[in-house]
Amino acid sequence: MELREILQGSGFSFKKKYGQNFLSDGNLLAAIAEDAGVTSDTTVLEIGAGAGALTRALAERARRVVSYEIDESLRPILAVTLAGLKNAEVRFSDFEKCDFAALEEELGEYLVVANLPYYITTPVIMRFVEEGKRCRGITVMVQEEVAERLTAREGTPAYGAVTAALARRGRAQLVRRVPRTLFTPRPNVDSAVVRADFTAGGFSVADERVYRAVVRAAFSSRRKTLENNLMAAFSMTREEAKALLAEAQVSAGVRGEALSPEALGHLADLIASKKSAAK
Ligand code: SAM
Repeated sequence: MELREILQGSGFSFKKKYGQNFLSDGNLLAAIAEDAGVTSDTTVLEIGAGAGALTRALAERARRVVSYEIDESLRPILAVTLAGLKNAEVRFSDFEKCDFAALEEELGEYLVVANLPYYITTPVIMRFVEEGKRCRGITVMVQEEVAERLTAREGTPAYGAVTAALARRGRAQLVRRVPRTLFTPRPNVDSAVVRADFTAGGFSVADERVYRAVVRAAFSSRRKTLENNLMAAFSMTREEAKALLAEAQVSAGVRGEALSPEALGHLADLIASKKSAAK
């Protein structure tokens, strides 16, 4: 039976507040699972099972799929669409309220694959970036504008704190653009699939918290120079900020957005080493 018929037959009504825009195109769903690099060894964590179309495509390839879904009224629909799949489990609860450390402990190494509800895209991604110790990577469908932001290069208007935060774990790539016509109901914007591999392409920093503080500072006031933003964020004198930037081989007068994530990481390491020397 077509997804549309199952949904209509069940009397289900879409809830905009939960970002419910479902996919049903079999080729696209298979392509997303391929994009993510899901194999028979993979444990997948999905946020937002919806009517289960992506969950099924993932479960057909993965060892195990655990999917969160906030909307209980999808239970009878998922019972039909995921029938016969022994390796897919849907948890009807709010992903944002889950005990994240316990979930990671339970899953072991995992990949995140999801068509994310648009209203929590950034906090969900940031959770994996900052707390996802066992997360090997994320492949997420997001609004096109967000995809541009996540994959932006330094010095471009779309480059921001989220880009730099994600890049530390693994540079994001835009792997596929998806027109709005492929969603039910049809949203007002197009979407894109972004992938970031956390096992390659990221970089390490001496102190995670200092890196976060540098990223925050670099983008806190985009019209101010990095020197001014660092002075405010780290209570430095102008001389100290100047000396730090010179040591990092960053030219005077630049704005934070001109620095690559790696350069911000280098700056954070210099600050961290001065902090520990001062202790
Ligand atoms: N994966 C399905 C697909 O691709 O067709 C549905 C994707 S839809 C964009 C997002 C889904 O996330 C919706 O089913 C929505 O109810 C669910 N959702 C929204 N907020 C959630 C939350 N906090 N925790 C778990 N699921 C959530």
